Amino acid sequence: MRDTLVLNASFEPLSTVTLNRAVVLVLQDKAVVEQSHPELRVRAATMELPMPRVIRLCRYVRVPFRRHAPWSRRGVLVRDQHRCAYCGRRATTVDHVLPRAQGGGDTWLNTVASCAEDNHRKAARTPEEAGMPLLREPFVPSPADAMLLALGVAGREALPEWLERSGSACATSAA
Ligand SMILES: [Zn+2]
Repeated sequence: MRDTLVLNASFEPLSTVTLNRAVVLVLQDKAVVEQSHPELRVRAATMELPMPRVIRLCRYVRVPFRRHAPWSRRGVLVRDQHRCAYCGRRATTVDHVLPRAQGGGDTWLNTVASCAEDNHRKAARTPEEAGMPLLREPFVPSPADAMLLALGVAGREALPEWLERSGSACATSAA
């Protein structure tokens, strides 16, 4: 099941929710659909609506603190756009820069996408020990990036399109 990205009323990415939850928020007029999956429709109660990919809350929600993006192997691959940090070719594995055998952990700053060949070649050595310099430094994704990672959207370029839209007006629940 696809998750739906939730934007705050201010267009700031907030979290992801299940499709069911997203549909309920829209049906209750608590959110509007900002972007939907083309050609995919979802049936809810007696109506049909575009399957929401991004919804935006009608009321601004204060976020007391910002979570850090949780680390995941998939997240590292998406962050690095599936490019090997050592040779730039397609990466399918995650390499620990400081090997786990030397105390390196599962953190954003200690992991990079790597092709299987380079991962095997580097083995339990640091880039210096292996003579395999990193093409780019690993970084911690911002919370906004984390939302995109959670959706499996590679790269920030997907975001401005949503942010630049003036946004559909929320129906005022005057009832
Ligand atoms: Zn490689």
